[in-house]
Amino acid sequence: MSVFDHHAFDNHEKVAFFHDEKTGLKAIIAVHNTHLGPALGGCRMWPYANSEEALNDVLRLSKGMSYKSAMANLKLGGGKSVIIGNPREHKTDDMMRAMGEAVQSMGGKYITAEDSGISVQDLRAMAERSDYIAGTHANFRYDGAKADGNPAPSTAYGVFVGLKASVQHAMNCELEGVSVAIQGLGHVGWRLAEHLHKEGAKLYVTDIYPDNLDKARQQFGATVVEPEEILALDVDVVAPCAMGAILNDDSIANLRAKVVAGAANNQLAEERHGEVLREKGILYAPDYVINAGGVIDIYHQKTDSTADALKAHLEGIGETLVEIYQRAEQKQVATNTESNLIAEERFLNQA
Ligand code: NAD
Repeated sequence: MSVFDHHAFDNHEKVAFFHDEKTGLKAIIAVHNTHLGPALGGCRMWPYANSEEALNDVLRLSKGMSYKSAMANLKLGGGKSVIIGNPREHKTDDMMRAMGEAVQSMGGKYITAEDSGISVQDLRAMAERSDYIAGTHANFRYDGAKADGNPAPSTAYGVFVGLKASVQHAMNCELEGVSVAIQGLGHVGWRLAEHLHKEGAKLYVTDIYPDNLDKARQQFGATVVEPEEILALDVDVVAPCAMGAILNDDSIANLRAKVVAGAANNQLAEERHGEVLREKGILYAPDYVINAGGVIDIYHQKTDSTADALKAHLEGIGETLVEIYQRAEQKQVATNTESNLIAEERFLNQA
């Protein structure tokens, strides 16, 4: 099948395939849209079963970045790259340098950063061969703490701000006493729990690994539940912070929360599930809007901005969500539908 006939092809500006025999690099870079600026998006290394799977992923993910950056008011377009292979077995510094050459050959149309299977060390190897690598260093954190290059603190703060604005919108109250169920206590989920606990929220948590659960019980007085229980709890807010596609016909039928606001990417199994949530009266914070803190962080580090400017930008996530909610209510459409429209207005009309 050609790229142009692929079901995930969406008028992508450029899709480039790279092969380097010496290092075994097999990679695809997809640039979805650059009307707002160069396409920024992470590089993912994954043992795709075949090139069709890799192409599908890179086309879908690069499109998602156009929407995320547009809604975060960044002068960036959408792009992404994938490397076919198992990062634990096949990755070498030479392969990363070859990937750097691939990125360089795009002439600045595409800037890469971290994603699954790619570390800061890998990005530094790429940067030996390319001027278009982000996420190799961090000068500051939004809260003034020492930066270690991990964007998760910014992502978690953005999700916290967005969750708070969503609760205010749906329930007309602050977070004190509001119950929140967090699915996944990883890099983002744990930090989100810290913020929520400070504001007096009542926490319910789960994870498939026990590591952070006991800690959450002790530090936050959180109630620990089984992974299969978390989405159906009788709570005010559900915050998905683990994997995607968790909002489907079955899980939505059992949801009792008034708000869904969390960090996970691609939370809706299908776009139509946004409408199913609306019909049930559940306010859904579009994932790519509320979880944009990571890309916002990378942008500020890359442009030598300041911690204060980064923090103000992250806090804008709350206002953006409220704008989406108001517009969606006026038109009686799902929040994800309205968000997609606003993003498209921004990046398609900039031509
Ligand atoms: P992470 O891997 O550190 O944390 C995910 C946690 O979810 C892990 O502790 C894992 O054990 C747990 N988990 C996995 N399956 C689960 C299940 N079935 N039930 C309960 N828990 C489960 O990842 P992260 O960096 O915290 O990211 C969380 C989500 O947010 C991901 O979907 C990621 O794509 C998205 N996201 C992250 C960032 C970022 O800056 N890290 C930015 C944007 C979006």
